[in-house]
Amino acid sequence: MWHGAKNLAKRIHAASQVKGQSSLSSWLKDIVNHFWWCCKTADSYQEFLELWLGLLHHVTNEHRWVLGSCQHADLESGGTQQWLERGSMAHEALKSIVRNKRWLNEVHKYLNFRSTADLESFQNHILMYASKRTAFRSPVFEARLLLAAMDYNYHKDRPELCKSDGSKQYRRLYKKNARRYMLYTRKTSKTYGYIPELQL
Ligand SMILES: [Zn+2]
Repeated sequence: MWHGAKNLAKRIHAASQVKGQSSLSSWLKDIVNHFWWCCKTADSYQEFLELWLGLLHHVTNEHRWVLGSCQHADLESGGTQQWLERGSMAHEALKSIVRNKRWLNEVHKYLNFRSTADLESFQNHILMYASKRTAFRSPVFEARLLLAAMDYNYHKDRPELCKSDGSKQYRRLYKKNARRYMLYTRKTSKTYGYIPELQL
C-alpha cells in the first residue's frame, strides 16, 4: 500500500513537470489523501474503484454525475482550488495515472491484506509528517511521505505493552467516522533507532 501511494505521488509529480500540466502539482496532496481515504473506506475492490475514480469528476469541479457523487460536504465557493478542464492535457494525464491497470492491480492485492487498524496507523503517520493544514511543494511532500513511511515501518512491529500479570494493555479511542469506540493495544514507546543511521 505504501508503494501504491509512493508510486502514485511520483507519477503525478512527473506529470506535473510536463508543459501544460503544471496544475497537477496543486492536486498532489489531495489525490494522495483521497487514495488513503478510499482504501480506508471501501470494503471491496469494487467500492474502492467507485470512490477512487470519482476523483476524475471531482477535479473538474463536477461533484455529482450519472453514476455517483462525491462524499465530501458542500464546497465553499471562492476556494483556491485549481479545477482541471475536462479533456485538457492535465486531466487526460491524470486519467491515465488514476486508471493505470498495473497500479490498480497492486492496489487490489493490497486491499485484501489490510486491516483497518494498520491503515489508520499509517494514515496518522502521514498526517504527523504532512499535516493537511500546510501546503508543501511536491519534493517536500514526497520527502515527508518517505519519513512517515520509515517511521511507520520501523515501529509497526514493536512489542505490545503488557501488565504485570502478562495481559495486554488496551486503549480506547473514539473514531469519528465510525461513531464508536475502538480498542487498540498499547505498544512500547518508539525508539527512532533509524535516525542516527540517516545522519551518517
Ligand atoms: Zn467533489
